[in-house]
Amino acid sequence: MNLSEKKHALIEHLKSQGYLRTGKVIEAFRQVPRENFIPPAQKEYAYADEPLPIGSGQTISAPHMVAIMTELLEPKKTDKVLEVGAGSGYQAAILSRLVKRIYTVELEPDLARGAGESLKKSGYDNVDVMVGDGSKGYPKEAPFDKIIVTCGADKIPKPLVEQLKEGGIMAIPVGSGLYQELILGVKRKGRLETENKGACMFVPLRH
Ligand code: SAH
Repeated sequence: MNLSEKKHALIEHLKSQGYLRTGKVIEAFRQVPRENFIPPAQKEYAYADEPLPIGSGQTISAPHMVAIMTELLEPKKTDKVLEVGAGSGYQAAILSRLVKRIYTVELEPDLARGAGESLKKSGYDNVDVMVGDGSKGYPKEAPFDKIIVTCGADKIPKPLVEQLKEGGIMAIPVGSGLYQELILGVKRKGRLETENKGACMFVPLRH
């Protein structure tokens, strides 16, 4: 199979498993070249449903996890989104096709630079990549309609709840250790109402 056949097969797989559910999210997966967000030597695995190493001991999330989190956020064209953990920039790239603007914070300067370059190469100009500790959020652009955290936190960082709009949605893996629970939160009356969406596996959120 060539890369475009592999991409088609992956998307069909994600649809059949119920990870991809909405037309516009499926379209975003079709558009975004995942091969632009992984090291060139790994290109042939770009459309395997697996996490891949991206340097600095970090990974690009498996496509099914990107699908699950993107669907949970119910992305809208008017949304201003905060991502914690830019990594490769792929999750931000997918979201960039579905929302107005994304601010993504990455702790590792090398990864932030790489993510910025991959996003630019792919022609996506509504994503801002910042270096910093995303557990503090990004007060300068708060509040956000949606917040996505793509590293495992031992608890939900308070600043993120504060920087989420009333009625806004947050997706965040919570737990210490290798596995976490994927938590879906909706902010109501200043508090985050949470729901557990099942086990997941992310690299840890570091401070
Ligand atoms: N969304 C990414 C997945 C990246 S893996 C993608 O699509 O490729 C998680 C990332 O979170 C890693 O790059 C790691 O360096 C970063 N990270 C860990 N702790 C962080 C923190 N406190 N603030 C910002 N980024 C953090």
